[in-house]
Amino acid sequence: MSNSNTPSDIARETLKALAARKLAPTPENYAHMYHEIGGEPAPATATSKATIVPVWSELIRDLLRQLETPHKGITVTRKKEGVETVLSRFAKDPAVLFEKLRGLMHSWSGAPTAHAPDEFPPLPAQPATKAAAPKSAATSAAIQPDNRELMDQLRELLALALESTLASQPEMADEIKPLAALARSASNQDGLDELARQLRQFWYKLEMRGGDKNRIQEGLVRLLRLLVENVSEMVEDDKWLHGQVAALQEIVAKPLDRHAIADAERSLRDAVIKQGMLKQDLTDAKSTLKSLMATFIDRLGELTESTGEYHNKIDGYSQKIGKAGNMAELGHILKDVMRDTRAIQASAMRSHEEMLNHKKQADAAEAKIRELEQELEQVSELVREDQLTGALNRRGLDESLDREIKRSNRSRFPVSIALLDIDNFKRLNDTLGHQAGDLALKHLTKVIKETLRPADTVGRYGGEEFLIVLPDTDLDSAVEAIRRLQRDLTKKFFMHKNERILVTFSAGVALRSESEDADDLIARADKAMYRAKLAGKNRVEPAEEATRSGVAPASIPPAGAAI
Ligand code: GH3
Ligand code: MG
Ligand code: MG
Repeated sequence: MSNSNTPSDIARETLKALAARKLAPTPENYAHMYHEIGGEPAPATATSKATIVPVWSELIRDLLRQLETPHKGITVTRKKEGVETVLSRFAKDPAVLFEKLRGLMHSWSGAPTAHAPDEFPPLPAQPATKAAAPKSAATSAAIQPDNRELMDQLRELLALALESTLASQPEMADEIKPLAALARSASNQDGLDELARQLRQFWYKLEMRGGDKNRIQEGLVRLLRLLVENVSEMVEDDKWLHGQVAALQEIVAKPLDRHAIADAERSLRDAVIKQGMLKQDLTDAKSTLKSLMATFIDRLGELTESTGEYHNKIDGYSQKIGKAGNMAELGHILKDVMRDTRAIQASAMRSHEEMLNHKKQADAAEAKIRELEQELEQVSELVREDQLTGALNRRGLDESLDREIKRSNRSRFPVSIALLDIDNFKRLNDTLGHQAGDLALKHLTKVIKETLRPADTVGRYGGEEFLIVLPDTDLDSAVEAIRRLQRDLTKKFFMHKNERILVTFSAGVALRSESEDADDLIARADKAMYRAKLAGKNRVEPAEEATRSGVAPASIPPAGAAI
């Protein structure tokens, strides 16, 4: 209990201990304490016993009071367990029991105690948050020699459980194996803390992966449903179907990820809607042409009818003319001929005009049909713009990034990208509705376009993820630009039913290294974005430099001023 060995040291310690235990400095108490600190058995006199008794009652009163007093992170049950343990372990020696109980109470209130806290198995002599964590029972038990064997077994079990996930997650072997090794080797508090930390990160990752798989599955089901719902529409039009099948083949040929599926779904949905509208227009235009044709043929019939009549009449007149015996008769016949001819001429003229008119309309209808058909074809090949937000879609983004990379190769100017992912977007959807979510996506796109330079391009990379391409921009300027966007979003609120909703994002920013391809560049930005999420979201993280040998970031400063 004490390292003191000279009588004066013992005396000083004795006085301190009397004060600490709130014992009256009576000669009996002093003698009792002196012997206790000096390591000699206290003389068991009647007087010393008599002095201890009232102190016990005080201790019990204290104990009852402390049991009921709330202490952060320590439940009453836990306190009772502590008392139980101390009672069962130290009941044989009242003096030790007294000390242990007192120590136990001190540990509740966080007051310093003369005993190491780990002497009491269930005692949380730690900060409240730690005490509340479910791990404390297991870890504090691990320090107990009695429980070491049990703890070893538990650690082995944990290692085996981790290794069993290898079968379903073989690609995570690099992370699972060291974790299992750490589970086997972690035997002290520091090791266990480190193990707990790494396990939490690992589970977070696993959850993300699980979530990804679910989303891929959901996305595929939605795609399929969309296709089935629209298949009757599609089979009517070969070209349309051809375009869709080509697009889907392209998607399925690549490794499936949720971005590709979300992109496919959105494009297909847009295309189906647009196609529906176009088809209606096309049907209208076709029926207009048909009715024009019908009128044209009718008119033609009328025309031949009247010219046939004309021919008949002309025939009749020529016979009459041939038989006419005098000029007066001939004059009458010619008058009739003139009258009939004029009527026929007028009818022919009218028909001609109508025909010209109809032809014009038919030409216009035909042109319209051609135009609509072309448009339909284009839609079928999937356009480059995201229909909801007006940002580029994946296809448009690919082209833009490719163009900037080639330009950077030629000009040696740097090019940076930023990958943004809206924070807690699912919650926004869940609380305000999917439609509000859509509007929030549009709002973010608008603010991005307003904030960044016209030369920068923004595209929708996935559901609530955006990729920004910043030409002629080095890493610092790109990070600065995205942070400015972050600040702008705190001023330009997304308004929902007159309520200001703060939309935040986490972003990773990467400067393209020489000869780095688009996929590697995006992967680095994605990694940095993931770091931003892990670090608590609503932040912008620069990506680590590319690791390929001899690759150095482009060093020529941007041509334009800072953005
Ligand atoms: P975190 O901060 O970790 O990024 O969480 P989160 O909720 O933003 O991310 P999570 O990936 O869990 O959820 C993304 C949500 O975005 C789920 C999906 O329904 C929604 N989403 C994806 N595309 C659209 C869309 O076009 N419109 C709407 N309204 N929601 C979308
Ligand atoms: Mg996301
Ligand atoms: Mg998100």
